[in-house]
Amino acid sequence: MDKNPFEYAPAPESRALVSIKGQYGLFINGAWVEPKTKDKFSTINPANEEVLSKISQASDSDVDRAVKAARAAYLKTWSKMPGKERGKYLFRIARIMQERAREFAVLETLDNGKPIRESRDVDVPLAAAHFFYHAGWADKLDHAGLGINPKPHGVVGQIIPWNFPLLMLAWKIAPALATGNTVVLKPAETTSLTALLFAEVCQQAELPAGVVNIITGDGATGAALVNHPGIDKIAFTGSTEVGKLIARSIAISGKSATLELGGKAANIVFEDAPIDEAVEGIVNGIFFNQGHVCCAGSRLIVQENIYDDLLVKLKRRMSLIRVGDPLDKNTDLGAINSAAQLAKIKELSASGDTEGAFRWSPDCQLPSKGFWFAPTIFTGVTQSHRIAREEIFGPVLSVLTFRTPQEAIEKANNTPYGLSAGIWSEKGSRILWASKALKAGVIWANTFNKFDPASPFGGYKESGWGREGGRHGLAPYLKGAK
Ligand code: NAP
Ligand code: MG
Repeated sequence: MDKNPFEYAPAPESRALVSIKGQYGLFINGAWVEPKTKDKFSTINPANEEVLSKISQASDSDVDRAVKAARAAYLKTWSKMPGKERGKYLFRIARIMQERAREFAVLETLDNGKPIRESRDVDVPLAAAHFFYHAGWADKLDHAGLGINPKPHGVVGQIIPWNFPLLMLAWKIAPALATGNTVVLKPAETTSLTALLFAEVCQQAELPAGVVNIITGDGATGAALVNHPGIDKIAFTGSTEVGKLIARSIAISGKSATLELGGKAANIVFEDAPIDEAVEGIVNGIFFNQGHVCCAGSRLIVQENIYDDLLVKLKRRMSLIRVGDPLDKNTDLGAINSAAQLAKIKELSASGDTEGAFRWSPDCQLPSKGFWFAPTIFTGVTQSHRIAREEIFGPVLSVLTFRTPQEAIEKANNTPYGLSAGIWSEKGSRILWASKALKAGVIWANTFNKFDPASPFGGYKESGWGREGGRHGLAPYLKGAK
């Protein structure tokens, strides 16, 4: 395989852009408070295992404090405020996020391990865009086709994963505030820092106390939030496993829920596809954010007669992926978010070997410290292999083939998930036919992983309930709206 002909001098973004405190409290009722138990846990930089800070473990009584603060803010301030005024706060938050964009990007990269190129160009700008977009809705809810004068639920409990910490926060908080709800949000255990910086932004924007509360902690904190009787609605993004647990625990409680869960997307390449573009799309589809993407194109389904040609080009392109220091502006693939996630990727990849698929990775030197996994493809994959069925959530692509378009659709839909899919073809009629036949909430044609706040996102089957973003994403935050 070709060696990478492009050698780049290191171009690290400055770490000095952020000042990380030695420890953080909980953000409740507009102020920093210590957790009742005084328990703290470390958050680390997964690229080198350096301890970045100590984070508070919120207990049941802290969750209770936060929910009460959110309720009081809802009753006293937020539910009484006209939409136009709420919108001003969202605009203010969006502008501050833009002003502090570099700080957010560096902090996200340090805490999560994703390349600065992505946090700078994708996560942070999209997070700000979500606040801008929803700020515009705050005074126009009467015109959203969701009924006259639609009413918020009240207090919303929000739980997010570690793969897009700030962006998932924005997907949750922006629509909740625009529709008049108040919020208690729990970030993931390994990536709390940008949510805590966001709390500072709320203070800077002079958001009324208690409208946004950020409580950190592990799954037990999440469960306490879900089960708190003062919560009117749950918005969860995370694994299907925890999503099912949440659905069970809120059954007949009267709480409503949106669940954005896992995926195992098919990225289908037809024989008439523009191959070079498709190769870029395949690489973006699975190696963006180390493959820690719920809608990642993790199953490549290629028409048999172009398979050989495509594989040669894909391998050549993969040899050019630069793996390493996430703060370096030249880096394409950063660190795996945690030791636990790395173990999961290794275990599933090992099952690919034992079940008879063929593993290939380009030559690349992985750093000795931190959590790393080389970009990998498996060929010779069949539908029964675990790597074709289970979400790996890492930089690992399973390649399958098909002969007829119908077979491609059958293979693509043969999954318990239904979050996203990709179609590569020059033929408009084929794209329309395939997108109707595919059971997936989001379908990209001749592109992949494109996101916009105006576009609803969400899945079928075990990929979850409800949609986030766009007009559709407002409905779950309003009583009785569909
Ligand atoms: P996870 O284990 O389900 O965790 C998600 C969040 O839930 C974290 O904040 C976690 O806290 C918390 N949690 C854990 N156990 C809980 C419980 N019993 N009750 C309430 N909350 C609990 O998922 P993950 O491994 O962090 O994230 C990866 C998954 O998220 C993947 O499956 C991916 O597909 C999915 N995802 C989906 C979307 C989408 O929009 N559909 C977007 C991104 C990711 P801790 O961090 O402390 O464990
Ligand atoms: Mg971390």
